Amino acid sequence: LISVTGLRKSFGDLAVLRGIDFTVDEGTVTAVIGPSGSGKTTLLRSLNALDVPDAGVIRVADVTVDFSGPVSGADTAAYRSQSGFVFQNHNLFPHKTVLQNVIEGPVVVQRRPAAEATADARDLLASVGLADRLDAYPSQLSGGQQQRVGIVRALALRPKVLLLDEPTSALDPELVGGVLAVIKDLAAQGWTMVVVTHEIMFARKVADQILFVDDGLIAERGTPAEVIDAPSNDRTAQFLRRLS
Ligand code: ATP
Repeated sequence: LISVTGLRKSFGDLAVLRGIDFTVDEGTVTAVIGPSGSGKTTLLRSLNALDVPDAGVIRVADVTVDFSGPVSGADTAAYRSQSGFVFQNHNLFPHKTVLQNVIEGPVVVQRRPAAEATADARDLLASVGLADRLDAYPSQLSGGQQQRVGIVRALALRPKVLLLDEPTSALDPELVGGVLAVIKDLAAQGWTMVVVTHEIMFARKVADQILFVDDGLIAERGTPAEVIDAPSNDRTAQFLRRLS
């Protein structure tokens, strides 16, 4: 469902992604792990054009873009619409209710009828245990509930792929489990997901594929059994040892 070839991105003189290649199969979960500053978030943001790559060909579902050449606004919009992005700090609109936050994208961006978007949003919010919080404002919710709204807001756009950027790292420890349970549930429903995470045990349990990113490159790629239980790369082993 996703293929990435020769992805490069610099910020000024800093080469953050230095030639990234990987694929993601439909209906699978890919966990992106690696040291702080290695480029994981930039890699994820590139899949949604939140960061625009300097070079590389990326296919997300039906849309292929070659970032080595000029990319039109229409191409970027089509590319972006294939995926939904869940931010570390959820980025909800503080002055809108839960329901308004969720239907904003479908109604304003996708021009879907409000009644249909609302019905959809209600179903999705119910599926993450928030049926009774539709009219609450984000500030009235716990961090874990806010993040579940963030996930629903991305799902409401009906993307082909869900991209999650450290979805639990801003949460108090006691709230992490509830959000991970929602992600696990989405995986069981067959959602294709790419998740940047520091939750190695979660990645080991839920991911089909692990990408270990180190210094702007994929240093190791494989199943959790390969990458986490029996890393072949010294840097991966070192990284995992530091966590345990
Ligand atoms: P972490 O685990 O700490 O979140 P990461 O692996 O996700 O790290 P990135 O957030 O992708 O790493 O950042 C990689 C490098 O790129 C860092 O040195 C960061 O400071 C730099 N960087 C990221 N975004 C920008 C930006 N918009 N402008 C300048 N530098 C940036």
